[in-house]
Amino acid sequence: MKQLFDRYIAHTSEEPIGMEIERGEGVYLYGPHGRKWLDFISGICVTNVGHSAPEVVRAIQTQAALYLHPMVYGEAVMGPQVQYGAKIIELLNNNLKKIYFTNSGAEATEGALKIAKKYTGRGELVSCYNAYHGSTHGALSVGGNPKKKVGYGPLLPGVSHIRFNQEEDLDQITDQTAAVIIEVIQGTAGIILPKDNYLQKVRQRCDETGALMILDEIQTGFGRTGTMFALQGFEVEPDILLLAKSLGGGLPLGAFVAKEEIMAVIQKNPMFGHITTFGGNPVSCAAGLAAVTKILDEDLMAQMPAKEAILRQRLRHPAIQELRGKGLLFGLIFETFEFAEAVRKVAYDKGLLTLGFINIDNGLRISPPLTITEAELHTACDLMLSSVGEVWNSR
Ligand code: PLP
Repeated sequence: MKQLFDRYIAHTSEEPIGMEIERGEGVYLYGPHGRKWLDFISGICVTNVGHSAPEVVRAIQTQAALYLHPMVYGEAVMGPQVQYGAKIIELLNNNLKKIYFTNSGAEATEGALKIAKKYTGRGELVSCYNAYHGSTHGALSVGGNPKKKVGYGPLLPGVSHIRFNQEEDLDQITDQTAAVIIEVIQGTAGIILPKDNYLQKVRQRCDETGALMILDEIQTGFGRTGTMFALQGFEVEPDILLLAKSLGGGLPLGAFVAKEEIMAVIQKNPMFGHITTFGGNPVSCAAGLAAVTKILDEDLMAQMPAKEAILRQRLRHPAIQELRGKGLLFGLIFETFEFAEAVRKVAYDKGLLTLGFINIDNGLRISPPLTITEAELHTACDLMLSSVGEVWNSR
């Protein structure tokens, strides 16, 4: 398999991790020759309810046996899509009343940027340095890491960047701005939380200028930070919300959710203003609904403070410069890339799966399935600390 992977599958780095997976169960991934990893990243916040949760697998099997793909998105009534859409609107419980399901997070970003431009009649966009909203052209344009754009230009015109958490930059949002796109918690930047009511201040500036506020909840959604959606923990209400990753319970699914009048722009002049063949696939929707139901039924969010406390208490070491995050979404910050990468590799060999961040190089990601037990969390912390200790002692 590894040889075929090297031969046929496009790699995204010169040295891919190359782990071979045979099966996943709960918080564990299993490879050939008895290899086993405790998953400390959940496929980057995708498998919030663990690997192949029986409830999710059953929902997929049931829906797959009924129908897979009857019609392109938005024109036919498909049960799982309608039920899941209604559930998300109910859980959001705010002014966002219409959901458009996509295939991925990047496509949700694209749709949101389009409707913001059309609704406001404006062309400028504001986003944050170090932000990540996806890899397609529009999403890359509003991304905040210039290194990732090299060679892929020209990208979208009219995009400017502000510093996350810097109130003094908010005057760059003007009456020419169609939308500000911003993560609730900057994930790829190494888990940066908004501080001093920053998101409310962005909201206020948007209200003053008539710009729309697009919140990217793609990494933080579905219980990860202790509330179903992270925005609920920061008490902010956007005009458009982006969802993906855990939205599909492990299957590909994204969405943008908007106020009714904003979403309405795709219906006419011209009709079919944003279309997709596979977006909102009924099997993905059934899987997502089963995953959300599991989060609610098992009251996983109520367990988050105790689990967060374990991480905060256990992950202490002179090499760990900072541990920042919320719920089960943390960044472990070391002095250098070399140190972080060495820890990642030692942890991998010991059976703990973690990963770096795209927009900073001296950190490691912690985002295990929310279903992780306290005992498993202690095991993960043991493995992480012994990996950090090994690299520290070998300096
Ligand atoms: N927005 C955020 C905050 C993300 O973390 C990601 C993916 O990592 C995306 C958007 C893009 O989502 P996708 O990879 O599904 O296109």
